[in-house]
Amino acid sequence: MTDRSYWAWGRISDEPTAADLAAAATSLSERYGRTILPVNLPSQSDLSLRTPRVKVPAHLRDITSIDDADRAVHTYGRSFPDRIRAFKADFPEPPDAVLRPETEDQIEQILEWASTNAITVYPFGGGSSVVSGFEPDTADERVISLDMERFDKVLEIDTQSRAARIQAGIYGPALERELKKHGLTMRHFPQSFEFSTLGGWIATRSGGHYATNHTHIDDFVESVRMLTPSGPWESRRLPGSGAGPSPDRLVLGSEGIFGVITEAWVRLQEPPGFRASAGVYFENYEDAWSAAREIGQAKLWPANLRMLDAVEGKNAAGMDGTKTLLVIGFESSDVPQTESLAACLKIARELGGVTDPDEIIDSETSASGAGRQGAVGRWRASFIRAPYAMNSTIPLGLIHDTFETAVTWDAWPTLDSEVRSGVQKVLDDRCGGGTISCRFTHVYPDGPAPYYTFIAPGFSGGELEIWSEIKEAASKAIIKSGGTITHHHAVGKLHRPWYDQQRPGLFEKSLRATKNVLDPAGIMNPGVLID
Ligand SMILES: Cc1cc2nc3c(=O)[nH]c(=O)nc-3n(C[C@H](O)[C@H](O)[C@H](O)COP(=O)(O)OP(=O)(O)OC[C@H]3O[C@@H](n4cnc5c(N)ncnc54)[C@H](O)[C@@H]3O)c2cc1C
Repeated sequence: MTDRSYWAWGRISDEPTAADLAAAATSLSERYGRTILPVNLPSQSDLSLRTPRVKVPAHLRDITSIDDADRAVHTYGRSFPDRIRAFKADFPEPPDAVLRPETEDQIEQILEWASTNAITVYPFGGGSSVVSGFEPDTADERVISLDMERFDKVLEIDTQSRAARIQAGIYGPALERELKKHGLTMRHFPQSFEFSTLGGWIATRSGGHYATNHTHIDDFVESVRMLTPSGPWESRRLPGSGAGPSPDRLVLGSEGIFGVITEAWVRLQEPPGFRASAGVYFENYEDAWSAAREIGQAKLWPANLRMLDAVEGKNAAGMDGTKTLLVIGFESSDVPQTESLAACLKIARELGGVTDPDEIIDSETSASGAGRQGAVGRWRASFIRAPYAMNSTIPLGLIHDTFETAVTWDAWPTLDSEVRSGVQKVLDDRCGGGTISCRFTHVYPDGPAPYYTFIAPGFSGGELEIWSEIKEAASKAIIKSGGTITHHHAVGKLHRPWYDQQRPGLFEKSLRATKNVLDPAGIMNPGVLID
């Protein structure tokens, strides 16, 4: 059984009440100048899933659930279309059973049973995929979801090397809680941190909250262990190695197609004691992103370097919609960050950036974070609440979603303009308007990782079709302009057509060859990355 909501972000207790929906309907009616009526909330009794088609062997039954709500939770991830379909209790292809192994022996038994009986296996971490990362389709005749939640322990800590051996099914908060007992932290914080797992991060090459320097899970993985249908795959613990292609690199981003990641050694650090941050306002969008570029290229490595365009600043930080905001932040366990922040502010001011003294926070000079009440503070708060806030607006027909990419600086202005015009056209044609906004989640010396949010009134129905058109327009513009179809959300089934265009053909063949060795029966997560 599970306490997770099968449609909303979070737990059942995070689902909105009827009063929440009514309040959201009133607020959206005012914002869009039309009458939006609240809808009825789904209840578990609306669920009526197909009868399970697999007979789980007796020795695995204790770890098996065929409960409808449990299978519903394991059918979709948490993208906009996932949440809409789940809200409507539309589950045509649920997994036949959910298995929660407790030991590696049990995983091996599951993989052997599945391989010899042509049963498709979808590894499941926190279920926060936004790219249809584990979604069964009609081609799968019998399907199980392999939920890693019982692999939730920190097994070993090497304080000298500052690394820990951690099981893959552990969720972000539990991982950090355990490390804190030893005065250490990993500090990999994707926005989905609360409901995603170490194994899911590794399988999808997730991106953390640091805007520069070490931020991808790739940077934290020292070695990794995966159980494949052909046997275990375990790399050696090393701080670095030039011994041929990296075995870890084949597991990072493998999205469950080769096997089940069971544990990893990850790099740790001490919690930061020194912090310095500021918000800088620009009249001109180009000056703001140029400042981000110059700071990135100055190798100052701020932990935070978020540019929010004027629309994003208005929607997410309560600004007036005329200025672009650059949020700059530093942290360190060992060294005051005053000078690094000052160096960034000098670059930003030379490009016309203006600071609000109340929003300059420095653990060396100011008492607490009182100044965080400004736009920077409002943005941080809304960033954390955003996935929950959508629980009340998505059911009412507000189309609200994000997509992301990365691109070199030379191609960035064209990509930005192509993406905006392609998406805005669909918003205007299909919704009579709507907004597209951009922020940078990560900044590299050679290019930014732009993250776009679109919000549109889809109240007349057909949200899924409209959403698909927007996604298509955005993906087309990204690939045409030289960007990647994903910087950190992964490929899944959703991005497959675009990923196929982006990767070298021989690389696809090499992945297939590897898959044939590791998963000869082809049971692991079919349709993701390769067919
Ligand atoms: C609100 C929200 C915010 C998000 N923010 C971010 C963000 O800031 N950065 C970011 O990178 N992503 C983000 N994502 C996307 C998602 O959270 C990441 O892709 C995350 O890494 C998935 O982890 P998970 O444990 O939930 O994996 P799942 O969603 O359960 O699975 C994802 C994929 O990994 C495979 N998998 C999972 N566990 C294993 C395992 N142990 N072994 C083998 N394969 C496995 C699955 O089969 C699937 O293909 C966000 C998603 C949401 C809904």
